[in-house]
Amino acid sequence: MAKDYYQILGVPRNATAKQIKEAYRKLSRKWHPDINPGNKEAEEKFKEISSAYDVLGNEEKRRLYDEFGEQALHPGFDEQRARQYQQWSAGAGPQTGNEWSAEDFGRFRSFEDIFGNMFEFGFGPEGQPFREQARGRDLEYEMSIDLIPALKGFETEIAMDKTRVCPTCQGSGINPQAGMSTCTLCGGSGRVSVARGPMQFTKTCPRCRGTGRIGNPCPTCAGQGMVAGVERIKVTIPPGVREGSRVRVAGKGEPAGRGGTPGDLYLIIHIREHPFLRREGDNLIMDVPVTVREAMAGGTITVPTVDGRIKVKVPPGSQSGQILKVRGKGALNPRTKKHGDLLIRLVVKVPRTDDREALEAAQKIDRLYAGDVREGLRL
Ligand SMILES: [Zn+2]
Ligand SMILES: [Zn+2]
Repeated sequence: MAKDYYQILGVPRNATAKQIKEAYRKLSRKWHPDINPGNKEAEEKFKEISSAYDVLGNEEKRRLYDEFGEQALHPGFDEQRARQYQQWSAGAGPQTGNEWSAEDFGRFRSFEDIFGNMFEFGFGPEGQPFREQARGRDLEYEMSIDLIPALKGFETEIAMDKTRVCPTCQGSGINPQAGMSTCTLCGGSGRVSVARGPMQFTKTCPRCRGTGRIGNPCPTCAGQGMVAGVERIKVTIPPGVREGSRVRVAGKGEPAGRGGTPGDLYLIIHIREHPFLRREGDNLIMDVPVTVREAMAGGTITVPTVDGRIKVKVPPGSQSGQILKVRGKGALNPRTKKHGDLLIRLVVKVPRTDDREALEAAQKIDRLYAGDVREGLRL
């Protein structure tokens, strides 16, 4: 049986160039003859690793190897003809002028090398195809939160109904308890014989990939590697999220098939209204009650903010509805990382009283207005 370069480097068939390089570096360091002087086994290993990397580390050679196997790497290999032969042997029959001579056949040392990879689909336990998918779908989840936690940011856990990786088999589809059983396709030999055109030859068993053993389907997911159900997911809401913000939770979308990456989860944020604080852009607007005295004579008032209480000076002669700006105490902009301002809107509160002195004082105050307070109020 031909050596499998991927196995030699210990990487999956869909490994990236970077993964291959890293695997090669690691192995060659381990088996380098300089490190293992006089060790015959290490020497052989090192040669094997080097020739595997020679092929898989080269984009063109790797492509040929993937399609035609090791045979493609021998000098004189004719890619086009090999492909023609594959098509022909797959049932198309030889086309006029494209017939293969014994000489042509001689170019290939053994046909099994050519066809070794031809029927290698991904197969799960007992012939169930894997859900081969490069990347799982992204998911969305609508989430309503209060304004204050949205400003501060927090961590929480959500329970989501979704397809998730099977907890029993961790997505492999194979029953981890049942062990392996003999492959029914090849009877455990790892090879199957195939007749193609005039030739009879054997090739690597596509179901067990030549190992002769296969897993049994996982009872939880029936071999699918995934189950539907509720998944509890830890999420981090960054400070400053606003209405409509999309918060990405990497890798928590739908899972992909084996070897694929899961999609991402996007939390769509909705902010509940607050009784006296609202956000406008990155500014926060807060209604703050003050007394008549504080408005008239001025003074220092204490105001709560997201990060603690602050003292604010109310200037003498302040009016109801007047805005005091406190710089940098607004909401955090998650993108610019800058805070908006806090805009304090003063609301002058008048006590309800029938106290004579108080009412006399109010009358006295009335005389202090410069003219009619409603002067100019015309429609
Ligand atoms: Zn399972
Ligand atoms: Zn088999």
